[in-house]
Amino acid sequence: MFRLSYKIFGALLLTVLLSVGLTSFAANQLTASQFRQYIIRGNTEFITGVESTLGMYYTRYQSWDNVSTILVQLLGSNGGRLLLSDAGGLIVADTQNKWVGHLTDEYNLSDGNTISVSGTLAGYFYWLGSESSASGSGYGKGMHSSQNNTGNSAITIITEPQQQLLDEMNRSVWISGILAGLAALGLGLLLTNQIIRPINALNRSARQVARGKFSQRVKVESRDELGELAESFNHMAKSLETNEQSRQRLLADIAHELRTPLTVIEGTVDGILDGVFEADTRHLTTIKEESATLTRLIKDLRDISLAESGKLKLEIAQVDIAEIIRRQASQISILAKDKSVSLVTDIPENSSVISGDATRLNQITANLLSNALRHTSAGGQITLSLKNMLYKDKSGVMVSVADNGEGIPPADLPHIFDRFYRVATSRARSEGGSGLGLAIVKEMTEAHGGYVWAESLLGKGSTFNYWLPR
Ligand code: ADP
Repeated sequence: MFRLSYKIFGALLLTVLLSVGLTSFAANQLTASQFRQYIIRGNTEFITGVESTLGMYYTRYQSWDNVSTILVQLLGSNGGRLLLSDAGGLIVADTQNKWVGHLTDEYNLSDGNTISVSGTLAGYFYWLGSESSASGSGYGKGMHSSQNNTGNSAITIITEPQQQLLDEMNRSVWISGILAGLAALGLGLLLTNQIIRPINALNRSARQVARGKFSQRVKVESRDELGELAESFNHMAKSLETNEQSRQRLLADIAHELRTPLTVIEGTVDGILDGVFEADTRHLTTIKEESATLTRLIKDLRDISLAESGKLKLEIAQVDIAEIIRRQASQISILAKDKSVSLVTDIPENSSVISGDATRLNQITANLLSNALRHTSAGGQITLSLKNMLYKDKSGVMVSVADNGEGIPPADLPHIFDRFYRVATSRARSEGGSGLGLAIVKEMTEAHGGYVWAESLLGKGSTFNYWLPR
């Protein structure tokens, strides 16, 4: 399997090679063609000049005698070689003085530029490439000809210095192309490294997290997608860490909760077996009560774990919440009377139908009522009310359980819905509380699409409200 860095580098290399190669090739072609156009323009002017000067010469002298000097002057600094023949093709002047007296046919010269004077053919002149002059026979080399409409031969002769200039320009294009390519590759490598480095770091950290090291975090080095990925990873690791901590805490809490009743049961049974205690009603009741605590704890734990994992199956039906509240009030009223706590209800006469699970709604209300009774001393009062209420623009019902009991310290109030959270731990446990009641209430109301919240003043009392949508 190719590593990502090799893939990016390969793609980069290919792109650079292709773009630099194509651009340099196109630039070379363009330069050469523009250069040729430029030469053609210059040469056409030169040829026209030569043609008109020679025409004037012939007009004046009516012969080509002594034309050589003029021809040399005409060639001037232009490269190549000028040849002049008379109308019959006999070479009468040659800037290199080699072919004078010979016929143009001997050298296969064709496409000569015509010199006409008053409609009479006076001769032809030829402009040959410089290389032909060197060899004396290869005059065709290094010259290109094209016939234009006027009948003049516009010859493209690229002289040696011009060819050198063209080569130089082409070389420069290639060199700058290669340099640009190298710079692009260098930058690309730098960029690849910047992408690969955080990915590798992320990969290493992910392996650590997979091994259970949830405290692992990665450094967020940029504000781009890789930075966002690093942030998401850190969030994920943090929530895994929190989950792991709460799982460990939960296990410790469960072990702790199970130990107390089990210790009591074991101690009592041991005492009976050792003959220290009588196997009488008192000791057997202790064992029965602690067993009941264990059973309740296990049932609460099961409810909570089902609710938290979203597997709590609600038997949703159209239920009259007013009827449920009334029934719960009458059930708690007996216990309240025993404790000399008065119970006041404010429940509408008519029915109030919502969609919900009657068993769970009974459980929510019973939990809140038994808490209120447990934390209200004799002479106190519990008020149970039901009213219609909009919550976040949604219509629903609100049930309130208010007491004027001991209240909850402000520091504990935000945590009372947490699992196993008790305000006064030792006393609450001795009173049978497991610290799961309110956690269950919260899970159950939320499973119904509702909310629960508490208000409390220490020493004055507490009010627990839950709202359910209609
Ligand atoms: P428990 O089963 O121990 O009562 P809960 O989850 O029902 O656990 O309650 C958590 C804690 O909240 C309790 O330990 C108790 O101190 C406090 N609490 C609950 N209801 C009341 C109330 N009406 N008045 C005062 N404190 C309360």
